[in-house]
Amino acid sequence: MYADVIVDISSGQLDKTYQYRIPESLAAAAVVGAPVVMPFGHGKREGYIVGLSEEPKIELERIKPILAIKEGGEVIESQMIALAYFIRENFGATMNDALRTVLPVKQAVRRVEKKTVVLAAGADVAGDALALARRRKHVAKERLLCELMRVRELPWETVTEKLAVSSATVQALAREGIVKVRAQESYRNPLTGMLGFPAGGGESGMEAVHRAAVPAGETGLNEDQRFIHDRISADLAEGRHRTYLIHGVTGSGKTEVYLSVIGDVVRAGRQVIMLIPEIALTYQTLRRFYHRFGERVSVLHSRMSAGERYDQSLRAKRGEIDIMIGPRSALFTPFQKLGLIILDEEHESSYKSEMPPKYHAREVAVERARLSGASVVLGSATPSLESYARALKGEYTMFTLKRRAVPGARMPAVTVVDLREELSAGNRTIFSRVLQEKIKERIACGQQTMLFLNRRGYAGFVSCRACGHVMKCPHCDISMTEHGDGMLVCHYCGERQKKPALCPVCGSRYIAGFGTGTQKIEEGVKKMFPDARVLRMDADTTKKKEDYGEILSAFSCGEADILVGTQMIVKGHDFPKVTLVGILAADLSLNSADYRAAERTFDLLAQAAGRAGRGELSGDVVIQTYQPGHYAVRAAAEGDYEGFFRKEIAFRKALLYPPASHVLAVLVFSAKEERADAAAALLSGAAAHFLSDNAMTTTMVGPAPASLAKANDRYRRMIYLKESDYSSLVALKNFLEGYILYSEQFKNAGVQFDFDPVNGY
Ligand code: ADP
Ligand code: ZN
Ligand code: ZN
Repeated sequence: MYADVIVDISSGQLDKTYQYRIPESLAAAAVVGAPVVMPFGHGKREGYIVGLSEEPKIELERIKPILAIKEGGEVIESQMIALAYFIRENFGATMNDALRTVLPVKQAVRRVEKKTVVLAAGADVAGDALALARRRKHVAKERLLCELMRVRELPWETVTEKLAVSSATVQALAREGIVKVRAQESYRNPLTGMLGFPAGGGESGMEAVHRAAVPAGETGLNEDQRFIHDRISADLAEGRHRTYLIHGVTGSGKTEVYLSVIGDVVRAGRQVIMLIPEIALTYQTLRRFYHRFGERVSVLHSRMSAGERYDQSLRAKRGEIDIMIGPRSALFTPFQKLGLIILDEEHESSYKSEMPPKYHAREVAVERARLSGASVVLGSATPSLESYARALKGEYTMFTLKRRAVPGARMPAVTVVDLREELSAGNRTIFSRVLQEKIKERIACGQQTMLFLNRRGYAGFVSCRACGHVMKCPHCDISMTEHGDGMLVCHYCGERQKKPALCPVCGSRYIAGFGTGTQKIEEGVKKMFPDARVLRMDADTTKKKEDYGEILSAFSCGEADILVGTQMIVKGHDFPKVTLVGILAADLSLNSADYRAAERTFDLLAQAAGRAGRGELSGDVVIQTYQPGHYAVRAAAEGDYEGFFRKEIAFRKALLYPPASHVLAVLVFSAKEERADAAAALLSGAAAHFLSDNAMTTTMVGPAPASLAKANDRYRRMIYLKESDYSSLVALKNFLEGYILYSEQFKNAGVQFDFDPVNGY
């Protein structure tokens, strides 16, 4: 046996592996991830086994033997390498890509001095200044004071960029003694920076840890929450490691349960990884964690530089923090004594990587927990079909929270409106009569409304009404979207073009946009309710990352009556004054071509509905649709998850889709169309051979053009393989990988594997 060994895991040169012979005496201990000592140059070095093989890659006499396998040692690196191997095996990727995913690469962090703006005046003086600014319509001042009264201190960039307050305005407030500008060293903890607290200030880490040490019994969980907490904590105390699924309606207090369990784990001297989809990593959420655990919490997010991320993983490894919050990639935080991994909103499609290795964070979390003797908690108001099916089988332990946690808060009342009837009654607007009535009521009594559309841009696509020609992106096989500035934009590759005045095919003048976008809704709202203050949040108004927080904080400060947006307004935010949620076209997401369309629609509707009436005021939800009878719409309106699950799982069983079966999606792509076709045909032929040689009953569909048949100038072909036994699919994938490696045909074509795809092709 031979071992591939990497010498330095922090250098980024991960593809550089060396082959060594494994002596008989070490054969049993030589597993992927094992730390080894081997001869290197003129001396000895330490490294890790990242692969095993039967065949030597160079002449036998040049291969040296491994000298020893270390015991104990740097346990965490070994675990991460074993995890990379798991990802490589189960999700199809090179070991390199897998290692790069799990190991942080060394990068220096630049330290710079940071300026902050601090509230200097007391609450009453600041309150008077705020009232004055409101009266005089000094909106920038108002924004700044409103924000500072909540958080006391804000980074300078947040003030000038996110809040768009000029430095002159800040200086004016400083002269009046209401604010102060302070300079300090860069934040070691990005969380404190994001929240606007100075490092080590605001509230002291010790205080917060002390508070975390208060027994969970005093944090005020209700009976249902306490039951879950007690069960999980009893398992933890007795060293039983499981995967739990908390199925709790929106606002049922899942986060409060996480916080109390995290407290237990941290008190026991172990660490916690808290995964939250990036879009839900909001100020409000982070602040809750900081208030509970102070400086022992850190965060990873996509805006951080490689250096800042490396810095945080180093802090985790040294034991300077106990809790890491972040999206999918936070899963690889190198905690030495990991005790718990939580996946909030576990149904979110962002938990599946869209880049190779196309791993699913849920499966990798369960494996990481197994390797480090930790537990996993999954939480959602609308669990993925996968998790719910496993919970029903007893593979996961399930808990249910059926009521909202805030005393007196009830689930909203839902009205489903049939848009066909609206049209036949002569209403040609995009707002049904019921919705118009309810919006008026809200404006009259100073409550807020959210209007939700599952689509972005001004209009759907642009086509010629004379010849039917559709304007498509020259690089991707999809229609371009019209924007308000007269431009056509490809939402896949970003291509921008001026909208032509005449049809490029027949020369007709009747070329126009179809469908409805958020921008058009915003215009419609302004026309129908001229007195209402309206904000819009979609991909176009949130180009910079800060825009997102700015719009949300403006809305929660009461600067608007109505917020119009895409699905990004649905996540993670709690607006106590929102008492009406309107879903304008529930069917839009039902008509997409992939097997998860109904599940995605149900999730979106249920989550959007969950935004209404989160505070003490009760809420109303209006769902507008052309398909009021569809089971996803009906179940979401009734808040009937189980009913939806039964219908949907029957469909998946009938058509052999996950979780009833497993699917391996194989994407073949090339810049030349013939090459893509030839490579796909070759691959499906090889797969067919393998299936018959091994008497497998796998169903093969394709090759066929992907629904996005061309993207970024590459032609895309798909092969789908459906099989109930996952390990048989893995064997087939391994065979195809070998086949690709030795076939000339794949020199100019790429292949990507995707197990149980979540994102369409
Ligand atoms: P979820 O994560 O399920 O959406 P949260 O934990 O965010 O729910 O709780 C929703 C709201 O209910 C929050 O405002 C929270 O402060 C409040 N809450 C949670 N648990 C309790 C409780 N036991 N008593 C009173 N309010 C609670
Ligand atoms: Zn035309
Ligand atoms: Zn494009």
